[in-house]
Amino acid sequence: MPPPRRYSTEAIVLSRFDLGEADRVLTLITPGTGKLKAIAKGIRRPTSRLGGSLEPFAELNVALARGRTFDVVTQVSVEHAWLSLRDSLESAATAWYLAELADRSLEERHAAEPLYTLLRRAYELLDAGMAPGRVARWYEMHLADELGMRPEVDRCVECDRVLEADETFRWVPPLGGVLCVRCPGPPAARTGLSLEALKLLKAYQRLDIEALAALRIPAATEREVETAMRDFIRYILEREARSLAFLDEVRAAR
Ligand SMILES: [Zn+2]
Repeated sequence: MPPPRRYSTEAIVLSRFDLGEADRVLTLITPGTGKLKAIAKGIRRPTSRLGGSLEPFAELNVALARGRTFDVVTQVSVEHAWLSLRDSLESAATAWYLAELADRSLEERHAAEPLYTLLRRAYELLDAGMAPGRVARWYEMHLADELGMRPEVDRCVECDRVLEADETFRWVPPLGGVLCVRCPGPPAARTGLSLEALKLLKAYQRLDIEALAALRIPAATEREVETAMRDFIRYILEREARSLAFLDEVRAAR
């Protein structure tokens, strides 16, 4: 059976660009259809009915008509506007970063309900005021998991031996996680990982959000895990996220 010509779906805007005089092309993530591109015709005219609702950082309900190149947005309403998320530049920049990771992880029109739920939850947490860095690490860890690339933090990625607290560790994204002291690993695998950082990586895999939000963590350990997870995500997605430069600028200016 051919898909219906008109349909409606929940959606979050991942990115957008202007087209022609007054149109805008949006990349949306939806639970059932995954990522898709849609065009909002005439949206940049002041009289547009679609107007201000087709914005990022909100859960929308979008009515679409199938089109040849892009599906066409016919109606939109806002289900959840995460307004507090926009109050802080750091949480807004983090939201862009999370959206970019989702965008890069998905192929168009492959169902993506777990990733949709993950992004939606991350936005709720940013909106509720959770530290953006923690939301980002939690999201990166679960994104890797959803992509079938859960980092190994309990056993050595090479010899499969359970890691002991009194040894030294190295973080080797191309091998999928932590390397023990006995294994040589690739020549470039010289990035040491402290025991505290290893514990925090485990926490991001195991603890629920409430427990993660309540953790008291030295800034140096947070930075170490940030670098480790960024390296890991860069390895999985095969390049650096563009939005990171802006996020780092915002944080440096704090
Ligand atoms: Zn080993």
